[in-house]
Amino acid sequence: MSTFTLAIHGGAGTILKSMLTPELETKYLQGLQQALDKGYEVLAQQGSSLDAVKAAIMSLEDNELFNAGRGSVFTKKGINEMDAAIMEGTQLGGGAVAGVRNIKNPIALAKEVMLHSGHVMLSGNGAKEFALNRGMEMAPDEYFFTKYRYDQWIEIRDSDFYQLDHKEDNLKGMPSQEKKFGTVGAVAVDMNGHIAAGTSTGGMTNKRYGRIGDSPLLGVGTYANDATCGISCTGHGEYFMRAVVAYDVSCLMEYKGLSLQEACHIVVKEKLVKMGGEGGLIAVDALGNFELCYNSEGMYRGVRTSEGINKVAIYKD
Ligand code: ASP
Repeated sequence: MSTFTLAIHGGAGTILKSMLTPELETKYLQGLQQALDKGYEVLAQQGSSLDAVKAAIMSLEDNELFNAGRGSVFTKKGINEMDAAIMEGTQLGGGAVAGVRNIKNPIALAKEVMLHSGHVMLSGNGAKEFALNRGMEMAPDEYFFTKYRYDQWIEIRDSDFYQLDHKEDNLKGMPSQEKKFGTVGAVAVDMNGHIAAGTSTGGMTNKRYGRIGDSPLLGVGTYANDATCGISCTGHGEYFMRAVVAYDVSCLMEYKGLSLQEACHIVVKEKLVKMGGEGGLIAVDALGNFELCYNSEGMYRGVRTSEGINKVAIYKD
């Protein structure tokens, strides 16, 4: 097979046109396109899906508009704690980090964990120590400070609420240019039919100290298997964990013979909806089919294929 496909997301939730100024909308679309192009370039130069996923996600992590890396939301303690995972579908290799601080690109660290730690997941200070030993790029607290995220947190820090970064309640009363959304992911299938998936996030605003979401959990927020699909999720992690979303999609394909589209639809539009789990996912299969599936008002998303499809979008089609 010589075709290839890359899909990305920048978070799903209550994203309405009325909530973004035209300028901000353009910035989001540009950020998505930039990430898509970064990953596509890797695939077009015969690179691996794993490297394409990492390149696309790093671009989104470096963009403060998205809730990952630089633009991560604040925890109840007023700090940033990030989660990320990456997986490749040939050997079913995976790496993840949870609750990490001061790591410039958590997705790069997740890949490092996969390749060089002898483990699958490292958390907190242990992950940081590993990052320092591996010479990963670190960043001071100030690098992760964005005023908008800080203001979002200030609004709810004295409550017991924690929020999806992109829920409308979270945004009430804020001027439109301050409405921020996030969490990022990428899935790709390369020229050799190898699939990879990755997800990176700051989690949910005002989350408890030590709370870990679905994103770094293989089989939940992130999963890749050449025999079925590559998945990256975004949404209310507590529901996605209980629904084991990514592996569920894969299982429906593997054991029930469903298509990528059918499997995604059942899990996102039926199962999660019944449970009350808001969000979505991006998915590819080994043939280059893709799905950008969500049950929320919108999802920052994009897809680019060797067959000439190249689009980014925010709101419901
Ligand atoms: N799923 C992420 C989490 O629960 C949040 C998100 O996708 O926005 O940590």
